[in-house]
Amino acid sequence: MVNKNHNLNIIFKFGIIYGSIMRIGLTTTVPVEPIFAGNHIPTDLNNIFITSENPEYYVEKAEVDGFPYNSCSWIKGLYSVALNKGFDAVIGVVRGDCSNTESLLDFLSFKGIKVIPFSFPYDKSRKKLEDEIKRFIELLESNEDNMKNTIDIVDKARRLAWIIDELTLKDLVSGLENHYYLVNTSDFFGDISVYIKKAENFIKEANNRNKIEYNLRIGYIGVPPIFTDIYNFLEKNGVHVVFNEVQRQFSMPFPEKDWIDKYLEYTYPYTVQDRLRDIKNEIGKRKIEGIIHYVQSFCHRQIIDYIIKDSIDIPVLTIEGNRPGVLDERTKIRIESFIDMLL
Ligand code: SF4
Repeated sequence: MVNKNHNLNIIFKFGIIYGSIMRIGLTTTVPVEPIFAGNHIPTDLNNIFITSENPEYYVEKAEVDGFPYNSCSWIKGLYSVALNKGFDAVIGVVRGDCSNTESLLDFLSFKGIKVIPFSFPYDKSRKKLEDEIKRFIELLESNEDNMKNTIDIVDKARRLAWIIDELTLKDLVSGLENHYYLVNTSDFFGDISVYIKKAENFIKEANNRNKIEYNLRIGYIGVPPIFTDIYNFLEKNGVHVVFNEVQRQFSMPFPEKDWIDKYLEYTYPYTVQDRLRDIKNEIGKRKIEGIIHYVQSFCHRQIIDYIIKDSIDIPVLTIEGNRPGVLDERTKIRIESFIDMLL
């Protein structure tokens, strides 16, 4: 059913205050502290989409509703999940994530879903980000005491994610496990205490394992993969993925920064040069021998693939995925050839 007054659903614009717990869908990583401090439940729509039993269903559903075939499958998946799972609102990053998000929010609003836009400032102005977060805090009714506690708890959870990342460098945690714990720092499974418990148990277990055996250390950069089996495929071919660029950024790995500055250090919403500084630093630190750059079909971020390739001194293989599912044979052969070349 189409809501003819869809603009009324833009919470930001009309300042609607709910005063009750909301189940909030996220299109990507946003400052999560005000959401938890307002006692709301965040859910990263990407994670629901890609871990569902049939992600292709969500892509097709969006196409049936009017999304172009030649548009990003992630966006289509987010749209259908947001519609199907009964969220009270969806927060979408309209500057600093995806050029499609404004249209996605328009479409969701058109369908009657309440949407909350959020922007990371292009010029990395602390003042602009503070103003944006302040608006967020007011909108989500996150009181000051709750904010203080939440900032500490989120920090505690992130520190566990950083330990898991360190254990990956020490060959005790696989690339897939690293991906799992880092990518889920966008919403902490909707309940930080669950994340903390799970991560603490995992760290104990990982510390008592034998080291992973491998032939090659690889870094994965770019948006998280729509391929569901890429980490398993790499592991079977003797590759240890010791760096997941964007997933690691989701965990805000900047212990020395205050909670707002973390969102300015976070490289993903800003320029490719910010990302390259981080990637180059980690290549050295993690002794990475080759990079797999994942790009998504119809994604504007493909444009910077050339800059990345031209700026990194070790071999880079760019692979592209479109629909959700397992790796296609052509991409498998390209990855195997890349591995052979590096060995
Ligand atoms: S892959 Fe690219 S186009 Fe698709 S949602 Fe992510 S940023 Fe947007």
